[in-house]
Amino acid sequence: MRVIGTAGHVDHGKSTLVERLSGINPDRLAEEQSRQMTIDLGFAWLDLPSGQTVGIVDVPGHRDFIENMLAGIGGIDAALLVIAADEGIMPQTREHLAILRLLDIQSLIVVMSKVDLIDDPEWLELVELEIEDLLEEHGLGGAPILPVSAHTGAGLDELLACLQDKLADLPARPQGHQARLPIDRVFVVGGFGTVVTGTLSGGSLSIGDTVELQPGGMQGRVRGLQSYKREAQRALPGSRVAVNIAGISGAQIKRGDVLAPPGQLQPTLLFDAHFRQLADVERPLAHNAQVKVFCGAAEALAHARLLDKDELKAGESGWLQLRLREALPLTPGDRFILRCPSPAATIGGGQVVNANPGRRHKRFQPALIAELHTRLHGSPGQRLALAASGSQPQTLAAMQASLALSDAELSAALDEAINSGLLAQIDADSYWASERWQSLLDRLNAELGGFHQSTPLRLGMPRAELGSRLNLPMSLLDRALESEESFIIDNGLVRQREHSIRFSAEQQAKVEALQQTLSGQPFTPPNIADINQLVGEDVARALMDLGELIQVSDTTAFAASDYAAMDREIREHINAHGEIDAKTLRDRFGTTRKYAIAMLEHLDSLGVTQRVGDIRKGGRNL
Ligand code: GDP
Repeated sequence: MRVIGTAGHVDHGKSTLVERLSGINPDRLAEEQSRQMTIDLGFAWLDLPSGQTVGIVDVPGHRDFIENMLAGIGGIDAALLVIAADEGIMPQTREHLAILRLLDIQSLIVVMSKVDLIDDPEWLELVELEIEDLLEEHGLGGAPILPVSAHTGAGLDELLACLQDKLADLPARPQGHQARLPIDRVFVVGGFGTVVTGTLSGGSLSIGDTVELQPGGMQGRVRGLQSYKREAQRALPGSRVAVNIAGISGAQIKRGDVLAPPGQLQPTLLFDAHFRQLADVERPLAHNAQVKVFCGAAEALAHARLLDKDELKAGESGWLQLRLREALPLTPGDRFILRCPSPAATIGGGQVVNANPGRRHKRFQPALIAELHTRLHGSPGQRLALAASGSQPQTLAAMQASLALSDAELSAALDEAINSGLLAQIDADSYWASERWQSLLDRLNAELGGFHQSTPLRLGMPRAELGSRLNLPMSLLDRALESEESFIIDNGLVRQREHSIRFSAEQQAKVEALQQTLSGQPFTPPNIADINQLVGEDVARALMDLGELIQVSDTTAFAASDYAAMDREIREHINAHGEIDAKTLRDRFGTTRKYAIAMLEHLDSLGVTQRVGDIRKGGRNL
């Protein structure tokens, strides 16, 4: 589906032409009908010779209403720039043409209107030459210029044929991944309720769809759809649509709001953009200058922060961060126009590059400018990797929404990013820029390396401590530890593979002495304080890390083999008799009640046993 728009100076015959082509008077306001001047947007549609229906947005040409013009012109595929043969090029002819260029409207036809007023062919030739020069100035040399009279009908067939060719030549509308409807009109129809209109982009909209209004986030349902006055079950991107919404009242909606599927759009107060200043502005754009932003059908006041220049002179381009007075729901790639609020004038336009930068940028940062450059000109894979370069891995859905990619574009971008090593898959549905991921692995290695160096007698760092030192969610830590063979987790202790505990000869001698003592009194071992005395606290700790000593209470630890013997006996006894008590355990191992209880309480805490009165039965982990 396609939508075209008119452009040109006031009174050059735009509305008359639209009415002649479509049979619809686009000037809907009573005031417009009586003053015979288009103030607000008008809407109509026409059928091409091929039978294809094309929507038309008729914009006001008067300079006082240029801001209304901007609300309608955003979504169009082609423009009819109407220039009256009797008057020729006028100020809003130039301004509108500049705006069409800034919005990157692909296709342009110049309509030299009211040719019935001109008898002198030389005059017509002169006007045509003047138009050709203007087109050249804007890099549009070669655009068709068609003489037309809406009054006599001369040239109308040629115009329709030319329009049909131009539209057929256009590349398919970029399929975004979700529908967006920037609202240009809101009204309430008796018996129906709220109706909004706009030019649909990005995806289709169907009856019954839940939609979200942004800013604000209010949700409603599509109750009815009309495209070109015909009821439709489904409206396609690139068409003019009227949506009857249930659940949101007309008073809650204003021009410029956007309808989209829930969760797709996030209104933002800050956005990063590439901007081109018009060649004929009177003053350079200063840092922090107040501007008016027009994007989609919305407008908002903003301050323009210049990120890479002290000021922007006429005709220059640069990177801006715009700080909006009120939040707008923007998408990367959106075209926008900036106007100076007073004296009111169009100063330039550009493209949204990062719709949610999240923070105020410092100026003159080469790394930032390089990043913005990649966001604008980078390959899909590079842009995807950038979208996943935040402090946390991202889900595919979040990256898709932030870049407004279709499913097909997303999957191609993902392949490219993974194959070129820019993006790492973290788990089933999350991804992280490889740089980020690598730097996390580097930090882990540095942290563990430092730990091993400062505490060589500890086997590793407790996993939870490592997570909190690096301020990492446990799931991400585990994923990182799993990903590299050089990390080992043993008993909840994380270490680098090459690290091991090495005792000095003196320490080794003490360890052997301890082993002697323990084998002499395996089930009544010295308490931990005594063990510490014997071998030193750090060596005792190391023996525990290594699993050679197993601590069962604050004061008691057994040698691993003795612990295993008791553990096995307890399990077997319960399996055979259904229970065990401290006395049985004490007698079986020739120990004391104190040790038997310590061991049983320890197994209680592991869920191997379960205390019932004075006996133990099997626990959930038996
Ligand atoms: P807009 O402001 O560009 O929409 O211009 P309008 O369509 O309102 O036309 C402005 C005036 O020009 C009206 O009085 C029209 O009747 C007149 N007009 C429009 N088209 C033609 C035409 O083809 N021939 C002549 N003679 N007058 C025209």
